[in-house]
Amino acid sequence: MNQPDIPVDALYQAAKRPEVVAAMRAFYGDADRRIAAHSPTCWNRGACCRLGEYGHRLYVTALEVAYYLAHRRQEQVPTVTGESCPHAHDGQCHARERRPLGCRIFYCDPAAQHWQGPLTEELLRRLRRLHDELNVPCFYADWLVVLRALQQRQ
Ligand code: SF4
Repeated sequence: MNQPDIPVDALYQAAKRPEVVAAMRAFYGDADRRIAAHSPTCWNRGACCRLGEYGHRLYVTALEVAYYLAHRRQEQVPTVTGESCPHAHDGQCHARERRPLGCRIFYCDPAAQHWQGPLTEELLRRLRRLHDELNVPCFYADWLVVLRALQQRQ
């Protein structure tokens, strides 16, 4: 997939808008409830956050990044080294409250395979509509590419 240019300034501006943050909080709250209703089990203790080694990519939209930035408090965006998410330590996610949608939905649990695809598609459609409603230009980009772009502007 070709990577779009990451509009870093626009992402920081969106992160400052209370209505953006509130809309994403509600979106994630609903997504988390829908996911929890399936009672998926984490089997790999964060191995999937070592994206390159695990053999998959994580893609995010602009609103997910804006929400991530809105909750960074005083923290810097961590440096990406290699192909692992820099928020993964000791088998845990250290950005759990603000992690992107794909992190919330993905489970390698075999019993979780049948619902993930349809729910992802449905929630991505809602996310795209939210970008229009909130007037935030949408992109769909590799998480590590986004983090590197954010990190370069600190
Ligand atoms: S944000 Fe958290 S859950 Fe998502 S890839 Fe990074 S460490 Fe894993």
